[in-house]
Amino acid sequence: MSLPNMHDAEPIPKAARAEIDRLMQSGDLFRYTAAENSPVALLEAEFAGMLGAKYALAVSSCSAALFLSLKALRLPRDARVLIPGFTFAAVPSAVIHADCLPVLCEVGDNYRVDLKDFAAKLPTVQAVIISHMRGHTSDMDAIAQMCGDAGIPMIEDAAHSLGTTWHGRNIGTIGAMGCFSFQSYKMINAGEGGILITDDPDLVAQAIIMSGAYEHNWKKHPVLQGAFSKWQNQLPLYNLRMSNLSAAVIRPQLPHLAKRVSDGRTNHDYVAARLNASMYMAVPEPLSGEDRAPDSIQFNLQGLSDEQVRNFAAAADAAGVKVQVFGMNADNARAFWNWQFIPNLPELPQTRAMLMRACDVRLPVRLKQPELDAIVDVLLTAIDAIAPNPRYGT
Ligand SMILES: *Cc1c(COP(=O)(O)O)cnc(C)c1O
Repeated sequence: MSLPNMHDAEPIPKAARAEIDRLMQSGDLFRYTAAENSPVALLEAEFAGMLGAKYALAVSSCSAALFLSLKALRLPRDARVLIPGFTFAAVPSAVIHADCLPVLCEVGDNYRVDLKDFAAKLPTVQAVIISHMRGHTSDMDAIAQMCGDAGIPMIEDAAHSLGTTWHGRNIGTIGAMGCFSFQSYKMINAGEGGILITDDPDLVAQAIIMSGAYEHNWKKHPVLQGAFSKWQNQLPLYNLRMSNLSAAVIRPQLPHLAKRVSDGRTNHDYVAARLNASMYMAVPEPLSGEDRAPDSIQFNLQGLSDEQVRNFAAAADAAGVKVQVFGMNADNARAFWNWQFIPNLPELPQTRAMLMRACDVRLPVRLKQPELDAIVDVLLTAIDAIAPNPRYGT
């Protein structure tokens, strides 16, 4: 079996075509032109219903959703916002964009928030963003409890976690607001796009206005109208709206989500079992209570030098499988030391050690078992080539 294409995003279901053609004919691409039921408004209703949230607001990206969430919390300038030290650069960037200061929390070698460091830093911050990086869920019971006890609002960055559940509850519904991405390499592909969900009418009313519902366009959102009256003309308009065209690409993918999630999980667990047979590779276990929705796999290399890690990635690359070692690619956007736009960027020894050994391989959910085997064979052969006495399988 030859290697599959691991780079392409999910194709768009054919069902999207008729609606896209209709929009091209009418030119009705702006979400607020129609009196009701614009594709963006329908997406919001469907997405909120699917996740069990009261309100949804579709926007231009998950970064925009995170930014609007922070603005809706009405944090003072320079408020400190606790974020994991392992996430995508979009997260500290959204904090900076909202005129706040990112405070970085250590992350363990299982890619989850280190609760000891979290507890120590929580009293020093005014808000928290938990980023479920690559879909890995931290202990949300402990985190929600600590934030609740301290009266500190928590936002979930569920950009890459759509379809994950925590004790049966949808990720993104645990915090005050949950933010998701429709960028091409997420579970639902619209090229660009994001959505935020919440049960709080006051938070969503502010986010709706700031997203660009100028004048009385907020009346086209099914939110208690009273929530808007106090914000009319009080908030800046950042114009981060979603276009109808994006919604038309996203909506026909929603019914495919459940299958994508279960295929992705089956693929991930199959590959994880094969990689774990190698003494040099360890795929961290999910936390109990977590049902993941993976479209990639992360594993830690162990017992290898920096040079061996580099050689392994190069050997796999040469054989056609791109392995990203988060901490070893120059300028990697997921390595905290590259977020040099943060004032007084701290050192996080534990997170750094993890990033120097954590590998990332895309596993598009459409792959079939022989294709997965071809990928794993490349990875195991690459380990054989660089580690003197292969000890796997013993
Ligand atoms: C993709 C991603 C983002 C950013 O999403 P955009 O829609 O591209 O802004 C933020 N956080 C995580 C964890 C991501 O994976």
